[in-house]
Amino acid sequence: MKCRKCGATAAINMRQHKLALCADHFLEWVPEQTQRFVEKYKMFTLEDKILVAVSGGKDSLSLWDILNRLGYHADGLYIGLGIDGRRSPSGEGIGYSDESHRLAEAFAAERGLTLRVVEVEQTYGATIPELAVISNRGRDKPCSVCGLNKRYIMNRAAHDGGYTVLATGHNLDDEAAVLMQNTMNWAGGYLVRQAPVLEATQPGLARKVKPLCRFYEREMAAYAIVRGLDYIYDECPHAVGSTTIYYKEVLNQMEEHRPGAKLQFYLSFLQAKEQGLFALKPGDAELHACDKCGQPTTAPGPEGCSFCRLWDKVRAVKGARLPASAAITDPVEA
Ligand SMILES: [Zn+2]
Ligand SMILES: [Zn+2]
Repeated sequence: MKCRKCGATAAINMRQHKLALCADHFLEWVPEQTQRFVEKYKMFTLEDKILVAVSGGKDSLSLWDILNRLGYHADGLYIGLGIDGRRSPSGEGIGYSDESHRLAEAFAAERGLTLRVVEVEQTYGATIPELAVISNRGRDKPCSVCGLNKRYIMNRAAHDGGYTVLATGHNLDDEAAVLMQNTMNWAGGYLVRQAPVLEATQPGLARKVKPLCRFYEREMAAYAIVRGLDYIYDECPHAVGSTTIYYKEVLNQMEEHRPGAKLQFYLSFLQAKEQGLFALKPGDAELHACDKCGQPTTAPGPEGCSFCRLWDKVRAVKGARLPASAAITDPVEA
């Protein structure tokens, strides 16, 4: 297989695009495509102050790398979840969160970029796995409380830090899997909100964008490897057996038989939405400031938003403190 641009030996063959490229041309193609999507979906401009949510994985580090290469002003946000994973029962080895934190810090330091860090345990008083045990008595995986915490902290960090946009590294495989799950359930409220750009329609809400939403996971893995990025290979240990991974496997089987199936599924959805197939019901997106923390929420009353209610419960059980402010540490300047 030869590179379409220069005829050298191809490093990647993308059947879905009928395109094979050598390493150098692939490393040029990814930021070019990213820039195209940024413009097509009107995500941000060079004037924007972007906060990139960085997990230490291939997608988020690649995204930060690409935005930096394209000349955007992009700081990173790392959220320490306190997930152990790889540590043996005797406590040996380095945990999943420690390792992803180390990789995010190293990435920022090597490039002179700014990384903001929020450690959930230090800031709020418990790790995510502890929080899951207290809030649902260990019956379920910690993924739902983890998602709630990440969304809250990301929004708050972006808003309080004066960023105009929050960028996450979701790739096409992530988006298509969520889309399939929501379609199987006809979850209209979720479908209407799934998009490359979520506008900040209410005060206190950060504008959210997904610049990698049209890249296959395989393309992002290839980018991170060819570019020599040092990222955490392991998925979060709690993601094993998740519904999202199941739908990713189903979609991979479809893709195997019909290259481009995933991309078509996602793009046809965006087109259908543009044509008005999914509509927001009146009152659907009505948010107000939480009585306790001031962050936007749909939850009424003095009990506060779901984040505040969760942490109140934890505080009652554990006696953990919940500071009223200072969710973000000072940025670590490299
Ligand atoms: Zn080439
Ligand atoms: Zn609240």
